[in-house]
Amino acid sequence: VAAPKAFDELKTRLAQVTDINRVRRILGWDMQVMMPAAGAGARGEQQATLDRIAYDIFTAPETGRLLEELRSYEDSLDPDSDDASLLRVSRKDFEKTVRIPADLRTEIVKAGTEGFMAWRLARPANDFESFRPHLEHHMELRRRYVELFPEADEPYDVLLDDYERGMKASEVRVVFDRMKEELVPLVAEARELYGDDDGTLARAFPKDKQEAMAREIIDLFGHRENSWRLDPTVHPFASGGGVDDIRITTKYEPTGLESFFASMHEYGHGLYEHQVAPELDRTPLGGGVSLGMHESQSRMWENLVGRSRPFWRFFYPRLQERFSPLLDDVDEETWFRAVNIVQPSLIRIAADEITYNMHIILRFELEQDLLAGNVEPRDLPSEWNRRMDEYLGIEVPSDADGVLQDMHWGTGTIGYFPTYSLGNVMSVQIWERIKEDLPDLDDRLERGEFAPLREWLGEHIHKHGRKFTPQETLERAVGSRIDPEPYLAYLRQKHGAATPA
Ligand code: ZN
Repeated sequence: VAAPKAFDELKTRLAQVTDINRVRRILGWDMQVMMPAAGAGARGEQQATLDRIAYDIFTAPETGRLLEELRSYEDSLDPDSDDASLLRVSRKDFEKTVRIPADLRTEIVKAGTEGFMAWRLARPANDFESFRPHLEHHMELRRRYVELFPEADEPYDVLLDDYERGMKASEVRVVFDRMKEELVPLVAEARELYGDDDGTLARAFPKDKQEAMAREIIDLFGHRENSWRLDPTVHPFASGGGVDDIRITTKYEPTGLESFFASMHEYGHGLYEHQVAPELDRTPLGGGVSLGMHESQSRMWENLVGRSRPFWRFFYPRLQERFSPLLDDVDEETWFRAVNIVQPSLIRIAADEITYNMHIILRFELEQDLLAGNVEPRDLPSEWNRRMDEYLGIEVPSDADGVLQDMHWGTGTIGYFPTYSLGNVMSVQIWERIKEDLPDLDDRLERGEFAPLREWLGEHIHKHGRKFTPQETLERAVGSRIDPEPYLAYLRQKHGAATPA
């Protein structure tokens, strides 16, 4: 069936919206990488103007009319086709977006900016009280937002759906409860196994060499020519303007090698966007399907590759040589242990592979309690500290390194945190499947051959973009929905008492 004229008209509108949103991403990148700090006010206005223009084009009655007119065309197509997927996904996006009154949308954006500014001052001042009114306002706005979707099983589902389309809080709880059960004893086992940090990583790695290493690993992992950038920033992230404009960032500290792991992490995000099918580019389908699936990709390159035995067998001699003589006294075994050590700590983003998930579960539970009114914002610091002690045996010395450590709640972002751990879980489901398809994967990694892995991911996950829901995308790649068991088995095998790491 030839696409009707209405389809081309719709595609043109959606391409305009996509272009504007990508320009906004580039402005966001610019703000965090290039812009002088005093430009923040003007940049905020520019972002708001572009958001409004994209919103007006997308929610115009004409978009709704075209979507209506194209129902019979959609029904005539294979549901897996690009056209049918574009119509299905755009209709869902449209229906969700028009449900939110413009004034509530504006209020949420404004509260997000103000809350972020308040958080940025409150954290270094260790002053939760100055931030509390913003959190209270965020919660009030979130409740109003949730009320617009009375068909949801529970309030949290509405917020989660913004980041992980179609996922339910009840499904996350099943996964997290199972993880909690296993991870708490596993942390104790791993503590026995690794002992205390011996300071191997706490060396002064020269910044220029860190940067050279970050570039080297990204090129080794692989990508098309002339389509990637790597720049320094304060909080590493990945962004870009299309499949051949991938911008990743990292942070160079005077000691340690966090920049290297952050580069591998952001490479995973960048590769996902880079390998979306070119036919989907410049449409709302041209990008990663969800935060959770995105995180499965970043954590795969950071942990399943970047903290694995085969990788370091290949890469450690190079690393030693590049930083020589800094690591001359550290053998591969000592290095491998140092980059994998498990040790409960205060800060989520610095946490190891196992305890990271406990930081997430704690936040997920608190978000639900806040939304339900079981925990009031004024009691949040004490609840936070109590649970840090319960889950990780950690005493929290200050709110700055406790409840105020992440920017998410500052911007009013609720429902985002669980996607980090969902990504961890899915990464291993995918990894197990790749090992079935590529039985010599470990040998390939040990020889520094990353193309088979990269191509598998492109073919089975990346190319689909947003055509299917996150769980449908996972099911197509591995044959099942989210399941924590492979991930737990991987952690036990790697860090458990039974089999030394
Ligand atoms: Zn990430």
